[in-house]
Amino acid sequence: MNQLLIVGTVAFDSVETPFAKADHIIAGSATYIGLAASLFNCKPALISVIGDDFPESALRQMEDRGIDLSAVKRVERGKTFYWSGKYGNDLNVRETLVTDLNVLADFEPVVPEHLRNAPVVMLGNLDPEVQLSVLEQMEHRPRLVVLDTMNYWINHSYVSLLKVISRVDVVALNDEEARQLTGEYSLVRAAQKIQNMGPSIVLIKKGEHGALLFNQSHIFFAPALPLEEVFDPTGAGDTFAGGFVGYLSQTLNLSFESLKNAVISGSNLASFCVERMGTERMWDLTRSDILGRIERFKDLTQFQFELDGFSS
Ligand code: AMP
Repeated sequence: MNQLLIVGTVAFDSVETPFAKADHIIAGSATYIGLAASLFNCKPALISVIGDDFPESALRQMEDRGIDLSAVKRVERGKTFYWSGKYGNDLNVRETLVTDLNVLADFEPVVPEHLRNAPVVMLGNLDPEVQLSVLEQMEHRPRLVVLDTMNYWINHSYVSLLKVISRVDVVALNDEEARQLTGEYSLVRAAQKIQNMGPSIVLIKKGEHGALLFNQSHIFFAPALPLEEVFDPTGAGDTFAGGFVGYLSQTLNLSFESLKNAVISGSNLASFCVERMGTERMWDLTRSDILGRIERFKDLTQFQFELDGFSS
């Protein structure tokens, strides 16, 4: 099985949606990505930092899912990264209320020896300097490097972000972030501008409106599954990225057909994530749950167009 190295936050979140409110729940970009990727035939390993306030039980549960946590650093007397956000009636729009970097502020990641040859690296959302440092510690250029980011880093660390973007194969970000990063409203133009920064593949996530995949010559659209109930969209983007990269880590096939399947896998995983609060739905998710839902994606998108009505 191929190793998948994931760098990102392991966090506490407080989230308010129109339906529910939760305080200090287990979350973070690396947590969501790792939980999603653990459902594929690969060996996910996290690089992150936590304070001594983070519960051991949550770490054990992640290990039970086959996630290697040997590179998650615990800082004694430190506080875990904390984020709080609020959604209004449009769940595609969220307001960040608090970002407390805490132990993330002075984090210097160390990639242990046994992870330095991982063929796939997922640079999850966190400080671009940390993302860069992880890449620099790899022994060889990995076969695939995927980067996710968010508005906070586009605002606070633009120059470092551009530096790390120039060294990755895939940039995955949401529509608002793509517009903010490039100054282009058209997502087609935004994707082209990002490709001009270095990456050959761009993945633009559009929340409940699906996702767009661009390579140099093709565009593919993956829908989000229309759900009866969406509880909390937090983590959907990271879970999407985890499904995408987890799928690709299985075979390392980077053809456009394989990338399309990876995008559908991401959309599939994200559809589970939003059904409950925080990471709640992800802990007991099984491979058969996700395989069952793939059929619904097929039904949603496949059709045969009859030309009969057009002939005179
Ligand atoms: P998503 O909804 O997929 O964009 O991801 C939400 C997760 O990202 C939450 O669990 C947060 O803890 C985490 N998060 C929020 N802000 C940041 C940030 N500035 N850097 C890294 N992770 C963050």
